[in-house]
Amino acid sequence: MTSVTEPTVESRLIAKGDVEYEQYRAGIWNRDVPVRYPEFILRVRSVRDVVDGLNLARERGWRVTVRGGGHNWFGTSLRDGGLLLDLGEMRELVSIDTDLREAVIEPALTGRDLARKLEPHGLAFPVGHCATVPLSGYLLNGGFGWNSLAWGPACFSVRSLDIVTPNGDVITASPEENSDWYWAARGGGHGFFGVVVRYRIGLFPLPKAITTSTCVFPLSRIREVSDWAAALRGGLPKHVELTVILGNVPGILTGGDARLSRAVVVTATSFSDGEEEARATLASLTEPPVDTGCQRKILNDATPYEALSGLGAELWPENFRYRSDNFWHNESLGTVLPRLAGPATEAPERSFFLCLPVPPPDPAVPPPDTAFSMIGPTFVACYAVWKDPKSDGAAKEWYARSTHTLETGSIGHYIGEADIELHPERARRSFSPAAWKRLDELRKRYDPSRRFSGFYGEP
Ligand SMILES: Cc1cc2nc3c(=O)[nH]c(=O)nc-3n(C[C@H](O)[C@H](O)[C@H](O)COP(=O)(O)OP(=O)(O)OC[C@H]3O[C@@H](n4cnc5c(N)ncnc54)[C@H](O)[C@@H]3O)c2cc1C
Repeated sequence: MTSVTEPTVESRLIAKGDVEYEQYRAGIWNRDVPVRYPEFILRVRSVRDVVDGLNLARERGWRVTVRGGGHNWFGTSLRDGGLLLDLGEMRELVSIDTDLREAVIEPALTGRDLARKLEPHGLAFPVGHCATVPLSGYLLNGGFGWNSLAWGPACFSVRSLDIVTPNGDVITASPEENSDWYWAARGGGHGFFGVVVRYRIGLFPLPKAITTSTCVFPLSRIREVSDWAAALRGGLPKHVELTVILGNVPGILTGGDARLSRAVVVTATSFSDGEEEARATLASLTEPPVDTGCQRKILNDATPYEALSGLGAELWPENFRYRSDNFWHNESLGTVLPRLAGPATEAPERSFFLCLPVPPPDPAVPPPDTAFSMIGPTFVACYAVWKDPKSDGAAKEWYARSTHTLETGSIGHYIGEADIELHPERARRSFSPAAWKRLDELRKRYDPSRRFSGFYGEP
């Protein structure tokens, strides 16, 4: 009888120069793939693999980076040298407990797969706005997903995690045990110093009616539209997500009308208990003021999760080249957005700005104690989106000008989509000073030999 032995982790390493190396190195969302080359890649399938990979890295003195689903816009999982642990095959929904309203998931499960599996149980989670976003790095960043204003950033719903530490130990982190790790994993982003191999997440009742009203306006009316949108937000409950998109607008919002392809779009999605309630909540979008020059309205459209993810797919299409940056501002939409009139008119190909006004926090509810600590009244993200490498120069030039416009008066950034590559200091500015200090202290305490690469741009 022949005995079948598992191949060692060492024998499964994909080395620079191996035939399959480039396929896995470049396996990230952005087609503008960074020119950075890890020495080895290990495609892990289990917690055991992660432990073995980390032990090997320790023996050999390699730095380690982790990839969940490769959706970080700048490929932070790609660094020169060392070992890349690719968790892409760890994407199972391990269990759902409907009584406790919680699920255990492997890291690379996508938002779409989670939402689809929760729906038959009448449950939901604030998954990312694009269906393909994996929970892995999204939850570490904080996670601004659907209905996050009411449900909170997704990391607030992480109840515990299983983590492999730099020493190769497997620990569970929760408010009761290993609470430093629990704190750091909820918002620490790519500065986290362990490998999350499982998340236990709290779930929410699936709203009975998810409906969206959308109004499209000419870019020339940006000032009037911004003032109206800012006032609208003030009158809406938190379970309505109001977004303003400007620049090149996808056909799903314009009904394919080419005359509206460069526009300002106000879209409000209500996560309500029934259609009547949804209709009442979105009533304020029925008649935009005359001076906004509204050109198209779609009111109270039924938008279950699959429809919402269709919008995400059009905003961030697959196989495109991207740059993304974002800014928190203390000023209101009405002050920030008019500055973008010029850049929005010149936005190349599919590029656009996405703005989210955030209602003030309830002073009676203390914010959870998490590394996630940067938030403000107005969030503005800039996405340069183009297809052809020959357009790199023009797209990046537009992007540099646009993001420069948004720098003025910005109070910080969201670590999950900030341009950490051009501006490594965005890492520090993505946290409150106290959270940044604590994160730094914890990294020094729990990863003293810097096994993990840490924030992009750090030595
Ligand atoms: C099309 C698109 C839409 C997006 N929409 C949203 C959105 O709606 N809301 C939002 O908040 N963000 C959004 N994002 C940003 C998203 O949150 C981040 O890109 C996030 O990093 C994606 O997770 P990932 O596992 O693919 O990250 P990866 O690119 O795989 O990894 C990024 C970094 O995270 C760390 N990391 C990832 N997984 C682990 C792990 N298991 N253990 C330890 N470290 C890990 C590593 O340090 C790594 O360098 C979007 C991105 C894209 C491309």
